[in-house]
Formats: sequence, C-alpha cells, structure tokens
Amino acid sequence: MLEQARQLLQSHFGYSSFRSGQELAIEQVMKGRNTICVMPTGGGKSICYQIPALLLPGMTVVISPLISLMKDQVDALIEAGISAAYVNSSLSARDVHDTIEAAKQGAYKLLYIAPERLESYTFIEDLKEIPIPLIAVDEAHCVSQWGHDFRPSYRHIQRLAEVLPGQPAVLALTATATPRVRRDICQLLSIDEAHTVMTGFERSNLSFSVIQGQDRLAFIKEYLQKNQKEAGIIYAATRKAVDQLYEKLTKWGIPAARYHAGMSDDERMREQDRFLADEALVMVATNAFGMGIDKSNIRYVIHYQLPKNMESYYQEAGRAGRDGLDSECTLLYSPQDVQTQRFLIDQSLEAGRIPGELQKLQLMVDYCHTESCLQSYIVHYFGEEPLEPCGRCSNCTDARDSVDVTKEAQMVLSCVVRMGQRYGKTMVAQVLTGSKNKKIMEFGFHTLSTYGILQEQSVKEVSGFIDFLISQELLGVEHGKFPTIFVTSQGKEVLLGRQEVERKEAVKTKQLASDDPLFEELRGLRKRLAERVGVPPFVIFSDQTLKDMCIKLPQSEEEFLAVSGVGASKLEKYGEPFMAAVSAFCEKHPEREKASGVSRNVRGTRKRDSHLDTYELYKQQLSIEEIAKERGITSSTVENHLLRCMEEGMEVALSGWIPEPYWPLIDQAIQEAGREKLKPIKELLPEEVTYGMIKAFLTRSLKEKISE
Ligand code: ADP
Ligand code: ZN
Repeated sequence: MLEQARQLLQSHFGYSSFRSGQELAIEQVMKGRNTICVMPTGGGKSICYQIPALLLPGMTVVISPLISLMKDQVDALIEAGISAAYVNSSLSARDVHDTIEAAKQGAYKLLYIAPERLESYTFIEDLKEIPIPLIAVDEAHCVSQWGHDFRPSYRHIQRLAEVLPGQPAVLALTATATPRVRRDICQLLSIDEAHTVMTGFERSNLSFSVIQGQDRLAFIKEYLQKNQKEAGIIYAATRKAVDQLYEKLTKWGIPAARYHAGMSDDERMREQDRFLADEALVMVATNAFGMGIDKSNIRYVIHYQLPKNMESYYQEAGRAGRDGLDSECTLLYSPQDVQTQRFLIDQSLEAGRIPGELQKLQLMVDYCHTESCLQSYIVHYFGEEPLEPCGRCSNCTDARDSVDVTKEAQMVLSCVVRMGQRYGKTMVAQVLTGSKNKKIMEFGFHTLSTYGILQEQSVKEVSGFIDFLISQELLGVEHGKFPTIFVTSQGKEVLLGRQEVERKEAVKTKQLASDDPLFEELRGLRKRLAERVGVPPFVIFSDQTLKDMCIKLPQSEEEFLAVSGVGASKLEKYGEPFMAAVSAFCEKHPEREKASGVSRNVRGTRKRDSHLDTYELYKQQLSIEEIAKERGITSSTVENHLLRCMEEGMEVALSGWIPEPYWPLIDQAIQEAGREKLKPIKELLPEEVTYGMIKAFLTRSLKEKISE
C-alpha cells in the first residue's frame, strides 16, 4: 500500500519522498482508523487525505471553513490531474445541484464542502447515496470551543460520520492545537488519542526576528525596496494603521494591496485576488486577512505592531514560506502597542474572558523580550520540549555591537523632566536639537539648559533615540488626546546615575533572495501562463519548483519529471514552455550549464533532495568547502544539508567537519555558556568555528544523551 502511495506522490504531486508524519497519517487512515494529524502550517497536511482519497474507492469529503480557499484547492488538484469539486455558498443552487448529481455518478475523487452544508437534511440524504470512505476535517480546531475559531456547524460532523452507510474514517487536521484543544477534537470526533500523528512545530525554513527601538516606517521602506520582487504580508493591528501604511507604500511607489474588515466584500475580494495573482506583491492587512490563503510563495511576514497572542502570531507569521524555501518573519515591537492590544481586548470581549486574554498578551510581550531562541520559545509555548537553538532567529544570530549611551539618555530624560513631562516626543526632540520653532519660543523652552544640547543630530534621529528609550521602558507614553512622554521609575535610576544604558546598532534589512535571471524568466512565464489559465501563479508551480528548475536545468521530459513538484499532469500541461525557456536561457548563458554539471551527474536518473546530493559527496570524504565549490552553493548551505541529514538519522561523522582539536574547546564552551543560545558559545570559540559546527556538535551530543 505504501509503495502505491509513494507512486501517487510522485506521479500526481511530483515529490519523491513523504515528509515527516505524512506516511503514518496515510497508513492510519487506510486502516480505517479515525486519526488526528497535527502539523504546522506548510507541513503538508493536504497530502495526508489527498493520497488516501486516490487509493480508496468512492469519494472523500473534505470539510473546510475556508470558502475562499476551496476554489484554489480544487484548481490545484485538477492541475495535478485529480478530479475534484466543491460545494459552498458561492455557488448558485443550480451549480450545487449539478455538482451533487455529478458526484453521484462518481465524477470526483474529492469533494470540498463548507460545514454549513451539514445543516441541510437533503444534502446529507444526497451524500448517503455516494460511497464515502473518508471524511477529512480541515482546521479541525474549529470544532472546539477552546480553539481560537470555534464554528458551531462543526458539531454536525460527528453525526455525519455516524449516518453515512459506509462508516467512513475521520481524519482531523490542524496546525494550532494546544493539548486541551487536541483532547477536545478527539472527544468530539470519536478519535482515539492514541491515533495522533504529530510532527514538531518548528518551521525550519523560517527565521524569526524581533526588532525594537527602531523607526518602523524607515525599516519597512528599506526592507521593501530591497525585496521588491518578493511577495509578503505586513500585518497591522487596526484598520486605521492599515490604511495609513497602505497610503505610505503607495506614495513610495510600491504596488500594494490592503485588506481589513472595514472594506466591502467586493473590495476585499479584489484586493486579495491581486495579491494571489502576484500583481500586488505586498499585502497590508489586519488579522482579518489570511484565513484561507494558500499562497505558497510568501517570502516574508512583517508585523508592524504587536499581535494579540502567540497563537495568532504563529499562524500569521507561519503564512510565510509554505513552499519550504527560506523566509523571514519579523515583528516590529514597541511597548506602546501593548496598550493598543489591551484596549482591543477590553473592547471586544465579555468580561469573563478578559483575564485569560491578558495573560496570553503578556506571553506575547515576553516573546519580544526574551533573549533566548525565538523558535524555541514558540514551540515551547505550544507545549513541546524547548528546542536546541535554531541558529536562524534574531536572538541566535545577533552579532551587533552595543554602545554605551548613558550620557545621551540622561540628556533626553532630563529634558523631559524640565519640560514638565507634558509633551510628545517630537516637541522634546525639537527642544533637544535647538529648533527655532515658534511654539518652543512661546513656551520659553529655549531657556532650558537642555535646549540644543543634541544640536548636531536631526529631529528624526533624536526621535528615533526617544523610541529606543521607550522600548527600554525608560520613558513611558501617556495616551491622552495627544500622546505625551514621561520618565519611568527605571528612567529615574538612569538619571540618578545608578543604571547604565546600552544600545545596539540598528538591525540591517536583508535581501531575501539572490538575483537569478533564469528564476526571473521562469517567474514571468509562470505569471503569463497563470493569467491565461485563470489560476494564481503558485497553483501552476511553487517557487520551490522554479528554484529546482534553476538548479537542474531540465531540457528533456525525463529531466523535467525529476524536478521537485512536477508530476505527469504538470509535465503534460506546462513541460514544453518551461523546457523551452530553460533551453533558450542555457543557449544564451552556456556557462550556467557548465557550473551545474556536477549536480547533474550526481542526480543521474534518480530524483532526490538536494541535501542527499550533498551527503553523497560527504561520504566520498570531500570537505565542506570542496562540496560547496563542487555544488556551487555556500558552505553554510552545505552545513545545513548535513544537519538535516543528521536529523533524518543518517550517519554524519563529525571528524570530517569539525577538526578534532576543537572538540574539547566546544565542549567546554557549551558547559560554560549553556545550551540555550548559540551566540555566547560562539563568542568563546575561535573565529573558524561556525554556527553550523556548534549545532552539529549539540545535535550529536544530544543524540548521545538520548541513546545512553
Ligand atoms: P498545510 O496544509 O499543512 O499548511 P500543504 O498541504 O498546503 O500544507 O503543503 C504545503 C506545501 O508543501 C505545498 O506546496 C505542498 O505541495 C508541499 N508538500 C507537501 N508534501 C510534500 C512532500 N512530501 N515533499 C515536498 N513537498 C511537499
Ligand atoms: Zn533561534
């Protein structure tokens, strides 16, 4: 059975191996067991019911609350050569009727339905006439009142399973389930808790960062300018903030879309479609946006303001990188946002739920302040054992220097005090820089001893520094008609010279993807084809698949099938134009093919993941640098490949990687600095010892501990 499943994975979806958890889930379902499958967003949950749907006789029913997603999901299945349809309120009664009739004739392997359908007696009677071996329940946390998105109509699912004649298996799928919600799902859908398939919550292609005390608008402007070609989402807390930000972006000439609950349905649909079609690359939105967004090529998610809790944060941030390519999740934190969130909680909830939500908010704030690994904090929050430091997040990789700014801080704080703690930050900055503004003269602030003591800086710079002092909670913000600033008790300590202030250099924005002209060409081709077919570009091929084409340069059918994400149906539909584009490119750039010669040889006729190619060379005793050179990738990518091999249980001898004289040093550094963060360990070691080496060492010593 599993062999057959694997063949279907290759022929329809173009993937050569299952991801963690998929195989087990499929196996359980095929045995007819009710199962719950908990995987992070992008983990590959859909395959867990799509493959059984192909293997089992009859039609699988998929229940999903995400109406807007259904069409894309069905389109994607049809693109992969699988018959599927959907029934929801967006269809006319006539279309619903036709779809059901076709389903009765056996036209579909999968039928997606909205849960509200289950309230219709006639609909259930119709379903009874169709052989249904499996009910897949997407977003299964909606069944639980403790979940963050309870849907009463989900309570009908259990009855459906009971009344259908064939006793279908139930597969519940979710990405966010605390232990309590998980138990609830099992109980309400008659799933034996022993039949839980759960993979870790870590998203190893995402790097998380928290940035505070920096000018947010300036950060975003620079970030977007550096990453113009990539798609991303910016989340803001309120409609007003979304509108303001959207206008800024438009003014800067960045093609953006926006989305919030204050817009009409039509307008929202239109904006969403522009984003899905890669016409607007940036979506500025409140948390109303994203449920039901399956777009796989989102390279970054920026939170312009603090979200209300970790559940929302991880769900929203997790929309980045569903295709498995490296992506960034950045949270721009300012302590003032805590008040906004408190206000929103107070406004929108009944009194009984407020304390619980405030507690969740506090844990969100703690995330912004933690100095340990952010990814580790997240998985721990969701009930997993803390991870080894991820080596990717802003805490793991922070190598910025800090400067002592105590003196400057004292100047600002003392100016605030002298002005009577009744003004906003711009006014304070104007006084400090010695502005000749009329108001300042009127108030007599030009006579203060702090007037103009920072005159060599601009008002903007000083404002930025004030933001930093706010982020350090040395200054507080009073939200009246106009926000004013005051010195906190901690700030007083600084004024009295009892506490020092250090400031780190500003975080620099990164360019997410390197420029590859072939990739751009393929991306353009994909967009044109998508327009013609009438589906979003990512439904045709994911970015991951385009990347793989750039490496493998496929120019024959066999080679094209070897690309990850290409199955028989996609080959037939799109093989020709893409191979033609690759050939044309290679003709113009013959050096490209030469450079990739090695990986082509290694690949041979089999299709495999990149890290396995690296492993092959590693087993031939090539050094990290030699592998990097041979494969045309960076050393740190090679190290990541090897780490992945270790995680997958392959034998990776440390001796070929970390020169033995370093071993005792690393061991000692770990003992001294602890295992929590990589950076302090790295600081105790010679320059040549890379983060990859430290991770490898930690992984190995952890493994040894487990096997002892
Ligand atoms: P989820 O529903 O868990 O968020 P999806 O089912 O949408 O995730 O899958 C996320 C992405 O991973 C999709 O682009 C999918 O094609 C891809 N994917 C799923 N399974 C595999 C696999 N075994 N190998 C490679 N890619 C996969
Ligand atoms: Zn980390």
